Amino acid sequence: MNWTPYDEPLMTGDEILEILRSTGAIVEGHFELPDGLHTAAVLRTVKATQFAPFNRKLCFEIVRHFLELDIHVVIAAGAGAVPVAVEVGRQLEARAIFVDSCGDMPALHPGFELHEGERAIVVQGVLRHDTEIDGVEALLRKANARLIGIGSIIDARQARRRYTVKDVAAIQLSPPVHPANDCPLCAAGMELMLMD
Ligand SMILES: [Zn+2]
Repeated sequence: MNWTPYDEPLMTGDEILEILRSTGAIVEGHFELPDGLHTAAVLRTVKATQFAPFNRKLCFEIVRHFLELDIHVVIAAGAGAVPVAVEVGRQLEARAIFVDSCGDMPALHPGFELHEGERAIVVQGVLRHDTEIDGVEALLRKANARLIGIGSIIDARQARRRYTVKDVAAIQLSPPVHPANDCPLCAAGMELMLMD
């Protein structure tokens, strides 16, 4: 087993999957997403990150890439990422803040600030699109702060841009989505399950 400077054991992909499956952060089956598309898996990392011991282990899979990078602030890109930001911030001894989305553009939640020269990472629970990062990146630019990296628990992007900063995840997992009228799971006669 590999040990880190903080004595937090690194997990294998199977161990990460086990935490995510056993907590219901990954549920496999045949689902209709809110946008009407069908998929074979529903991803909700808050099911796992609500439990401190699991959150600590999962967040360390992000933290280990930033240990020597003098991070000042960790920004949650959405409400589901708040536990991730708080824990990554705790492990890196950095501030943890979050944004509220108003329309397309996020804004810092009232009371939070970004300062010139601050070194920041943006975190997300399930990162589905690069656009989730763009708004926060714009806030950093406006404050003359620096984006040092991006960290997600599950990187679920079907397509990802090549960022010039570190772009890391505990696990990469992008279950395919299908239009309802052209879904292989429907074609196979699998019952459509409801999301709880
Ligand atoms: Zn289907």
